Amino acid sequence: MHAAQFDYERPATVDEAIALLKRHGDDAKLLAGGHSLIPAMKLRLARPKVVVDIGRIANLSYIREADGSIAIGAMTTHQEIEASTVLRDHSPLLAETAAHIGDIQVRNKGTIGGSLAHADPAADYPAPILALDAEIDLVGPGGRRTVKASAFFVDLLQTAIAPDEILVEIRVPATAKTVAYVKTEQKASGFALVGAAVVIGANGVRIGITGVAAKAYRATAVEDVLATNGTPTPAGIALAAAHAADGVEPLGDIHASAEFRAHLAQVNTRRAIERALQRA
Ligand SMILES: Cc1cc2nc3c(=O)[nH]c(=O)nc-3n(C[C@H](O)[C@H](O)[C@H](O)COP(=O)(O)OP(=O)(O)OC[C@H]3O[C@@H](n4cnc5c(N)ncnc54)[C@H](O)[C@@H]3O)c2cc1C
Repeated sequence: MHAAQFDYERPATVDEAIALLKRHGDDAKLLAGGHSLIPAMKLRLARPKVVVDIGRIANLSYIREADGSIAIGAMTTHQEIEASTVLRDHSPLLAETAAHIGDIQVRNKGTIGGSLAHADPAADYPAPILALDAEIDLVGPGGRRTVKASAFFVDLLQTAIAPDEILVEIRVPATAKTVAYVKTEQKASGFALVGAAVVIGANGVRIGITGVAAKAYRATAVEDVLATNGTPTPAGIALAAAHAADGVEPLGDIHASAEFRAHLAQVNTRRAIERALQRA
C-alpha cells in the first residue's frame, strides 16, 4: 500500500525545520529514519500533508563525552549507538540495547531521536533512558529546554515534545558501567514483549521497563525493596523483582497476554539485576 500524497520539505537547519512545523501545524510530520513514520503512512495510520525531512540537517548526529555526560545527537542511528566505543567504554547500556533493535536494516536507518519521539510502547530505548535518568533536549520557537526522562514519556505514543518542537539531544551519565538490558522480543519484528534495563550505582538501583504498559516506566517498587534490603542475595533479588509490574496496567495483544507480560517483567527484571551485578 502506498502512502497518501504529501508535500516534502528538506530544511537545512533546526530553525528552518521549526518554522515549517509552526507554519503547517498538525499537517506536518518530521521524518528522521522513517522506520516508524513510513510504515504508519503506508497503513494510513498517519496522513501528514507535509513531511519535513530532518535527515540533511548538519550536527544532529554525534556521540561525544563532556562534563561527566555522554551527549547523543537525535539523528544518531541505532547502529552508530551499538558500535560507539565512547558508549561501550563509559556507559554501555544504550549500546547493549541498540544491538537488540530489529534487524540490521532497521538499525542502519532508525534513529534514537525518532524512536524516543515515537514512544512506541514496545520500543527498546525507553527502558534504558529511564534507568539512566537521561536528559532530553528539545528545541522550539521559544528556545531550548531540557526534559528529564521521568517526565518525557506521557502515554501511548505520546511524549513531552510539543507539536512545534524538535528533539535534538539526549544525555546520559558517563559513569554508568554496572548495567544490563534483558529483553524478550516479538520474534517477527524484534520489538520488545518486555525489556528490563538496570543501572546499579552508588545511590542504588534504577530500573526501566518497556513493553508491559502503554508507556515505559520506572519499576520503583523493585528499586525500593532493593534499597531496603541492603546487599542483594539471589532470594532477595527474586523477591524484589516480583514487584516489577506493580502499579501499572499491563497490555495484552495477539503477541502476549497481559498476565504473560506481567510475568515476563518479573523474570527479565530479575535476570537484568543478576546480569548487572555479575558485571560490577
Ligand atoms: C521491521 C521493523 C522492526 C523494528 N524493530 C524494533 C525493535 O526491535 N525495537 C525498537 O525499539 N524499534 C524497532 N523498530 C522501530 C525502529 O527502531 C524505528 O527506527 C524507530 O522507532 C523510529 O525512528 P526513526 O528514526 O525511524 O523515526 P521516524 O519513523 O522517521 O519518525 C518516528 C516519529 O518520530 C517523529 N520524530 C522523528 N525524529 C524526531 C525528532 N528529532 N524530534 C521530534 N520528533 C521526531 C516523527 O515525526 C514520527 O512521528 C522497528 C521498525 C521496523 C520497521
